[in-house]
Amino acid sequence: MNSATTKELAVRKERMLSQHLVGRGIVDQTVLKAMRDVPREEFLPPGMEYLAYEDGPLPIQDGQTISQPYIVAYMIEALQLQGSEKVLEIGTGSGYAAAVLSLCAAEVYTVERLPSLAHLAGARLRELGYRNVTVHLGDGTLGWQDHAPYDAIVVTAGAPDVPEELVRQLAPGGRLVIPVGPTPHLQDLVRVRRDRSGSLHMETLCAVRFVPLIGAQGWDD
Ligand code: SAM
Repeated sequence: MNSATTKELAVRKERMLSQHLVGRGIVDQTVLKAMRDVPREEFLPPGMEYLAYEDGPLPIQDGQTISQPYIVAYMIEALQLQGSEKVLEIGTGSGYAAAVLSLCAAEVYTVERLPSLAHLAGARLRELGYRNVTVHLGDGTLGWQDHAPYDAIVVTAGAPDVPEELVRQLAPGGRLVIPVGPTPHLQDLVRVRRDRSGSLHMETLCAVRFVPLIGAQGWDD
């Protein structure tokens, strides 16, 4: 089967929400509502729509991936957003996580290093009406200084270390969630918090598996 009706997708989405998100501990109601409201099928390559609500990563253009729904929800929940924040995402990919973020925060800036993906995601997000998201083509290991500081930063590719530049662009009280690991494909998800006095606190959340973060403060190409 390579097509699914709107009704079938709605049933699969509800199953994803109850089994894979609520069932695995996602409790933030804003995140759950955003995961319900964003049509993941619109962010997949043509012909893959029927897989939209399976709980796994899927291939997109340029050898990249759209992350597993549970991990998208988990990472956004870990940012502890209240709705008024300015958020930076590194690794736009399909634009799906940026769309979910846009319903959980006030402003979303997202950086992608691959021109075709940045272009496609930007056009898609505009077309779907996510007006508080801005896509930027560039090396996200250097953040996006023009809009810094950010209340929250989420990185959706695996880094060898926490990029110093991202920490620098974090506002007091801000949270940075990033996969960090000693090899390009295996990481721990880490949360760095800058407290009001400027001190940094780091905690490990869980083991994850992301494509590599490639750039000046990431892995070599
Ligand atoms: N958030 C995406 C989504 O919802 O579809 C999934 C992102 S995919 C797992 C990781 C993305 O990070 C890829 O599109 C890859 O090209 C991008 N990437 C890797 N290194 C990067 C860098 N230095 N700056 C910006 N994007 C980068």
